[in-house]
Amino acid sequence: MCSRSDKMKGKSLRFRINLWYTVLMCFVCVALLGCVVAAARTAEKSLAQQNLIRSVERNIDEIEVENGILDIESDFAYLNDDVHALVFSKDGRLLGGEYPEGVEINLPLESEGIRMVGNYYVYDSLINFSKFEYKINGITGEIISSECDGIDSYTPFEGDINTVGEDCILSYREAYEIALKHSDRTKKNTDLMVARSYEYNDEPLYEIEFFSKKPGYSDIWVRGVMSAKEVDSIWGTIVAIATVLVPLVVLIACFVGSMIAKKAMLPIERLSSAVSEIQSGEDLTKQLDIGDSDPMIKSLTGNFNKMNERLHRSFEAERQFTSDVSHELRTPTSVILAECEYQLGDDVDKDEMREGFETISKQASSMKQIILQLLYFARIDRGNEKPTFEKDDLGELVKAVTGDMQSACKKDIEFITDIDKNTEMNFDISMMTRLVTNLISNAVTYQNDGGQVKVTLKNKKDSILLTVSDKGFGISEEHIDKIWGRFYRVDKARSREDGCSGLGLPMVKQLVELHGGKVWAESELGKGSTFFVEFRK
Ligand code: ADP
Repeated sequence: MCSRSDKMKGKSLRFRINLWYTVLMCFVCVALLGCVVAAARTAEKSLAQQNLIRSVERNIDEIEVENGILDIESDFAYLNDDVHALVFSKDGRLLGGEYPEGVEINLPLESEGIRMVGNYYVYDSLINFSKFEYKINGITGEIISSECDGIDSYTPFEGDINTVGEDCILSYREAYEIALKHSDRTKKNTDLMVARSYEYNDEPLYEIEFFSKKPGYSDIWVRGVMSAKEVDSIWGTIVAIATVLVPLVVLIACFVGSMIAKKAMLPIERLSSAVSEIQSGEDLTKQLDIGDSDPMIKSLTGNFNKMNERLHRSFEAERQFTSDVSHELRTPTSVILAECEYQLGDDVDKDEMREGFETISKQASSMKQIILQLLYFARIDRGNEKPTFEKDDLGELVKAVTGDMQSACKKDIEFITDIDKNTEMNFDISMMTRLVTNLISNAVTYQNDGGQVKVTLKNKKDSILLTVSDKGFGISEEHIDKIWGRFYRVDKARSREDGCSGLGLPMVKQLVELHGGKVWAESELGKGSTFFVEFRK
């Protein structure tokens, strides 16, 4: 069975980017939609509830008690903005208004704010008629009218109520007391709000208003009922819109995601097709060029080109090496075979035979030399031949090797040495001996009798510098950089006669590098050469 990640691995990166993008977009859209819906629903709910409260409070202003009789004025709205208003007496008797059709809410009257009953919002408000308004005849003291009303706040009267009004026989105080008596209130539990007198139908009239701190004498409840479904229907609309919108958003996200993935993947696709073109053509010299693109893709292309170049060089070196080795071994093998054939002939005298075997022996030892050197290279390349560093005086080693080379030299060549003191450093004795021997051997080989080999070892500030110079044939400029390549010889025919393989200097270079140093040569054709080896201290 395939796991989910295994299934995803099989899909293209483009498909995966598209999928991730779409999922993300859908998630964001649904989350956004959810937030909008939640906010809209809350706002809608609170607006509906505010509307319910406003309707009830507005209706309260339309209820009064006039001359002891409850008066619901004509402006009282029994149905306004989907709010049904009902009026109840203190003991819960329905005095006016109707519940929405088919609904009866058996809920006690309580001022607890908005309550949810089934699918309805219910809001109850108690009016205790605490503001009293009296009009009293200023001469006879007759109560012309009395009203009782609900009140939230009031401003107490601060004037002088002892003044007698114009043409009045009664004083303000007397008129106030008549009103108090009629309303069954005392001065203690009331606050005077208005006390004024004016003329009405040619008779003086007192208008007295006061607020009672005692509970209202005829409390009335007003109930507002509003269907919660009105709010839910808005919610339903939102859900309906979302049902259409979400799939649409998914489709758009899918399309946009695929465009983005296509655009993002374009350089990679071009890179991939360019790579497969190179791979099918098997031409490693071909460079990738995918034009102007993203810096990351550019760097990837650059690195690919560099890697390709290195691979090409290393394949070329390998090919060259194989061809060189075959070539180098073919010549002595051919000579040996030809000589053997001749020796097996009938008319070969003893001297010829000796000469023949000498040739065979020379060619065989030249082959052995090449094979030994190649094996040594192979060991170094594979890391089997690692230097064993020991602290020793390099000067002593150079002196010893030069002495040995001088003794073995069959040419008439002057040897000069100039070795500094204190040239101690870490080196591998056998490798260093091979290195110095190779350089002095070349200096001897590539000059005639009467020449000179000068070996110096200088103790410099940060390094130790070894030089081997001769006054021999020299090397022309066109060859000087190539002599470090394996099997490279300036004069092939001549070198082969001398038993030279073209592996000496590459070996020197490799040994110097194993010691962390560097090597280079300076030469002038016909005047001589100097080889420099510098080791860091
Ligand atoms: P070889 O075994 O042929 O000496 P090397 O790698 O040591 O191989 O040298 C490569 C070539 O560099 C030689 O064939 C020779 O032509 C040239 N060479 C090296 N050393 C000297 C030198 N001291 N003077 C002139 N030519 C030299």
